[in-house]
Amino acid sequence: MAILRVALDVPLNTLFDYLAPDTEITAQDVGARVLVPFGRNMMTGVIMEVTAYSSVPSPKLKLAAHIFRDVPPLPEGLIALFRFCSEYYHHPLGEVVMNGLPNRLRSNKPFTRKVPSACQYGLTLTGRKADTSIIPARHIVKHRLLARLRESRVMSISDAKQLSPRAPKALNELITLGWIEEIPFAHPATPVPAAQALQIPVLTTDQRNAVDVIAPEIGEFNTWLLHGVTGSGKTEVYLRLISLVLRQARQTLVLVPEINLTPQLEAVFRARFPTLRLVSLHSGLSPSERAAGWLQAQEGAAEIVLGTRLAVFTPLPKLGLIIVDEEQDASFKQQDGLRYSARDAAIFRAKQAGVPVILGSATPSLESHYNAVTGRYLRLRLSSRAVKNAALPVVRCIDTRAVKTKESFSPPVISALERCLALNQQSLVFINRRGYAPVLLCKSCGWAATCERCASRLVVHLRDKRLRCHHCGHQERFPNVCPECGDQDVVPFGHGTQRVEAALAEYFPGARIMRIDRDSTSRKDAWQHMLRDIHEQRVDILVGTQILAKGHDFPKLSLVSILNSDASLFSTDFRASERLFAQLMQVAGRAGRAGIPGEVLIQTEFPDHPLYHALRQHDYDLLAQTLLEERKTAGFPPFVYQALLRAEAPQIDTALGFLTSAVAVAKAPGEVEVFDPVPAQMARLKGTERAYLLVQSGSRKKLQAFLEAWRAKLDALPSRKVRWTVDVDPMDF
Ligand code: ADP
Ligand code: ZN
Ligand code: ZN
Repeated sequence: MAILRVALDVPLNTLFDYLAPDTEITAQDVGARVLVPFGRNMMTGVIMEVTAYSSVPSPKLKLAAHIFRDVPPLPEGLIALFRFCSEYYHHPLGEVVMNGLPNRLRSNKPFTRKVPSACQYGLTLTGRKADTSIIPARHIVKHRLLARLRESRVMSISDAKQLSPRAPKALNELITLGWIEEIPFAHPATPVPAAQALQIPVLTTDQRNAVDVIAPEIGEFNTWLLHGVTGSGKTEVYLRLISLVLRQARQTLVLVPEINLTPQLEAVFRARFPTLRLVSLHSGLSPSERAAGWLQAQEGAAEIVLGTRLAVFTPLPKLGLIIVDEEQDASFKQQDGLRYSARDAAIFRAKQAGVPVILGSATPSLESHYNAVTGRYLRLRLSSRAVKNAALPVVRCIDTRAVKTKESFSPPVISALERCLALNQQSLVFINRRGYAPVLLCKSCGWAATCERCASRLVVHLRDKRLRCHHCGHQERFPNVCPECGDQDVVPFGHGTQRVEAALAEYFPGARIMRIDRDSTSRKDAWQHMLRDIHEQRVDILVGTQILAKGHDFPKLSLVSILNSDASLFSTDFRASERLFAQLMQVAGRAGRAGIPGEVLIQTEFPDHPLYHALRQHDYDLLAQTLLEERKTAGFPPFVYQALLRAEAPQIDTALGFLTSAVAVAKAPGEVEVFDPVPAQMARLKGTERAYLLVQSGSRKKLQAFLEAWRAKLDALPSRKVRWTVDVDPMDF
């Protein structure tokens, strides 16, 4: 009788053997879901192998209960991706596999399809011509639905529900009116009326070049770094390549960093390819919607799968192209459970499938930049803005040591805002509020506390009045005076401000101000609303955090002011400069996109800092070179490969104790360094104490081999009350 080797969602790094329930099992069943007894329960897992032998003695082997044949088995490529993630991130295979499946397919019941979820809604001809003012203004939901449909042409029931929970009722009423109709999924969306047919732009020289270089290589694996300044038209390059892939009847996977970016991109794709079958996968979907989308991908019916990082685990039997937009974005790295990088997983996947992967960015991550420098990735540049007459904005620094600020604003910023208001143009005030760990800084000479053992900045731990190195574990007491100049004014430095909106309202009582951050956009439909208000010029000044920086196109925006980014210059996180630069390039890139000249003002006490210098010149390469040299000297990535062993426990000593014994059993070969345990900056989080230790090596292979052997020993360590995980290529310390 055949043996099934099954992946189950349990934290053990092994597959489980079962006797096949029937005799018709073949290798074809690899990838199918199977119901098996586990302990006292039944569990659903995935068949990873079918073999003839098991190391489990046969009287102990249990019989699998049932093989699900409700959906096709997972394709080979996806199984290979799961195996890669399990090995590379040192995470139990069963958890990797099961967490990659939609909830509905993890359950112990067979999957039943609901037809309606695949249905979409569109405007009828009457609906398109109708005068919406005959609907009373208080029927807000109806107005929103109609406005949304005029924008994006089709919407699913879930899109509608995101607008309002009352949407289904409103939809039905609009259907009765004859304004809206149901369009079955996979059916061509409302045909584009000829007059409205989209103008396909003539490519710029840079775009033409990029398309011409990639197009002949579309059937081969390569990692392309599409490095294009903000507004250079990367999307148009994607569209041209996707159309080639569509013609070959193959699927494209498009990954974006933010769920907020999916509706706009979806609208762009649908406008260009009116009959496109597109599936959007992100955390905002209901379980059945997600399962339905997943299945359309799995059956090859979905031509484009658009989603956030989780979408990298979608089965795509006819995969032809992968696009990772804003590849530098930290949100591609999962921060708990399986700590995978969706970008890196996408590259593995492309390689395995023999198809190209395109990483798009205005400011590539230093890792990707370095890979392009060394020739592992192929770089294509788009160096000017695509829209005629749209130039990159002028960037100026305002030295706040020379001009005084009042309520965070300097006089030049205030007058620039006034000017914009008078011209009826929009402006954006950008607040950098990321919670960077505080460092100790001397206000008179600029000295910042650094570690004597490695080049890292020391982190202030106020609780026990100590400075700690989060890199190597070194610690020391707070100095009372500056060791450089003797000044007593050494203070923790680095926190954002939230009073900006209020201050603005005082300065400009007549202006329409809109604050955009996680809090103000947390309601489901809030963001779509705000976007519409911005586009329809119902806003004068936008106040926002990084959420605004990403990918949006606001044609009327001409001024960007950046208030408080200095703290990141002195962050203890060695990636802070890189991130700050990317972020500021992106926000700066919001200005002047459609022909109005743009201006960017940065308030800073350090106008001579290389980062601001590079920003003024729009010179990514200059800064990248500086940062790479710093990283090389300090021995940071991309010149070394890192992993963290993270531990959590109710008491910090328990966590540290576990890590200390982990160090004791680590037999690191010469090329692998194991540092001392450190309590995390936010040591107490949700009632548990957190600590970690860093392992690094100049050789990825050696690091991987070490982790493999170490993990087995860690599994054997007593770890009562400790939860630990390995984080490979960590992004947050
Ligand atoms: P990026 O993603 O590179 O920042 P986008 O793809 O958002 O840039 O494009 C910026 C703007 O340029 C968009 O409004 C787009 O419609 C426009 N655009 C792109 N390519 C062209 C082109 N070849 N000619 C004219 N406009 C273009
Ligand atoms: Zn000093
Ligand atoms: Zn150190």
